[in-house]
Amino acid sequence: MTTENLWPTDLFIGGKWREGTNAERIEVINPSDGATLGSVADASPEDATSAVDAAAAAAHGWAATPARQRGEILRRCWELMVRDAHALARLISLENGKALKDSRGEVAYAAEFFRWFAEEAVRGHGDLAVAPSGANKILVQYQPIGVSLLITPWNFPAAMATRKIAPALAAGCTCVLKPATETPLTAYAVAAILAEAGVPDGVVNVLTTSSTGPVVNAMLDDPRVRKLSFTGSTEVGKILLRKAADQVIHCSMELGGNAPFVVFDDADLDGAVEGAMIAKMRNGGEACTAANRIYVQCGIAAEFTRRLTERMAGLTVGPGPDETTDCGPLVNAAAVKKVSELVDDAVAKGARVTCGGKSPAVAGYYYLPTVLANVPDTADLAREEIFGPVAPVYIFETEEEVIRRANNTEYGLVAYVYTQNLGRGLRVAEKLESGMLALNRGLVSDPAAPFGGVKQSGLGREGARHGMLEFMEAKYIATSW
Ligand code: NAP
Repeated sequence: MTTENLWPTDLFIGGKWREGTNAERIEVINPSDGATLGSVADASPEDATSAVDAAAAAAHGWAATPARQRGEILRRCWELMVRDAHALARLISLENGKALKDSRGEVAYAAEFFRWFAEEAVRGHGDLAVAPSGANKILVQYQPIGVSLLITPWNFPAAMATRKIAPALAAGCTCVLKPATETPLTAYAVAAILAEAGVPDGVVNVLTTSSTGPVVNAMLDDPRVRKLSFTGSTEVGKILLRKAADQVIHCSMELGGNAPFVVFDDADLDGAVEGAMIAKMRNGGEACTAANRIYVQCGIAAEFTRRLTERMAGLTVGPGPDETTDCGPLVNAAAVKKVSELVDDAVAKGARVTCGGKSPAVAGYYYLPTVLANVPDTADLAREEIFGPVAPVYIFETEEEVIRRANNTEYGLVAYVYTQNLGRGLRVAEKLESGMLALNRGLVSDPAAPFGGVKQSGLGREGARHGMLEFMEAKYIATSW
C-alpha cells in the first residue's frame, strides 16, 4: 500500500510543502514485508540552508509571542494528535514495523509532550537574589536559545520528534527537524498536525535527506543555528559533538544504552518477569531503555529463566500493523544480521538458547523472541546494544558483585532493580551508574520526568521542566535599586 495520498511526503520549509532540489526521492520500506511504502523528498545542503533561513526569519516573532499563546498552540497540537492517534499509530507500524499496540503507546506518549510543554510554556521563571556583599541584585532571566537543529532516530519516530519540538516551542525557539531516513513519514505527519494547530510558518521546518552528513553539516556550519538536540547512537553523537564544537553550538545528547536489569532473590518473581517483558520487549527490543543484560541472583535464576522463556515463546510474531502481533519485525535487514551475530557469538561462548535463537523463514525482517541462559560476561552482547527481541540472562551471587558487573559499561542511561527490600533497592539504586533507575518497575519514560543518561549515554535531559531549560539560556543582569 502507498501512503503518499494519505500524508504529506515533501519537505516542510517556511510553512510550505515542497520538493527537494535533488530530483531523486527516497524510498520508504515496510519492514513487515520488504515492500515499498512510498517515497519522500530528498533535501540538499541548499534546502537545509533554506530551512535555517525560514527558522531564523520566524525566530523573533515566535520568541515575542506571549507564552500563554505558545502554550495554547501546543495544547492544540496535543488535541490533534489524540484525534489522529489511530492513523498515526498505523503509519508508525507501517514504516517502523513495531506492533500496533506499541505504536499506540508511542502516539499517546508523543502527544503527551505537547500537553506537558503547553503547561510548562508559562513557567519559564527566572531568579532574583541579593549579592552576598549586599551591594547589588542578581537578576536571572531565561531566554530562548535560538534556532535549534533537532535530529531524531527511527525507533520512536513520533515521540523523539515531539520530545524535542514541544520544549523548543515552549521555550520560544524555532527549529529544523531532520528525522531518521528509515522512518520519515511520521515526521511529516507530525508537521501536518503542527501546521493545522496554528504553529506559524517557519517555526518548525522538517526535511529528509539521503545526504545526511553534508545536510547536517551545512546547518551546523551556519552561525544562526545555536542549538543541537540529538537522539541516536553514541557513535554518531560523538561525530556531532566534534562538529558542533566549530561554532560552539549548545548540545543535548540522548545516546545509546546498555541497561542492566537486576533481580534479587527476594524479588516478587511474577512482578520481575512482567517487568522484564516490558523493559525488554517494548518496541520489540528496539529501545535505548531496553533491558540489555538481565542479572538474576543464583537462588531464583532457573525459575526466572523458565518463566521468562514461557512468556517470550508465547508472543505472537507478525506484521507490525496486525492487531494480533506482539512482536513485529526489526527495522531492516542489517538489524536482523546484527542481532543474529550477537546471539551466535553468545552461544559460541557458552550461552544456551531456551527459546527463539533464529529468524523465521518468511519475508520481512523478523527475529524470534529469544532467551539466552547462562550468558558469560565475555559475550559481545554484554557490551553492545542488542536492539532486538533477545533477553540474555546472567547469574550473580552478591550485591557487590552485581553492582560492579552492572556498572562495567561505558553506557549509563537506565537501570532496573527488583527486590522487596526497600533499603537494598535504594542502596543499589544509588550505586548504579545511570541517569534513570526503575525500582520494581519495567518502564521509566514519562513526559513529566527528566529523561537522560550519564557517561556515554548522553548530555542533558528531556521532559519535565529540565527539557525546556535545554532550549533556554540564562541571562544574568547585575543591578541595584
Ligand atoms: P543513528 O544511526 O545514530 O541515527 C540517528 C540520527 O542521526 C538519524 O536521523 C540519522 O540520519 C542521523 N545521522 C546518522 N549519521 C549522521 C552523521 N554522520 N551526521 C549527522 N547525522 C547523522 O541512530 P539510529 O540507528 O537511528 O537509532 C538507534 C540509536 O538511538 C540507538 O543507539 C539508541 O539507543 C539510540 N536512542 C537513544 C535514545 C535516548 O533517549 N537516549 C532514544 C532512542 C534511541 P539517517 O537516518 O539519515 O542516517
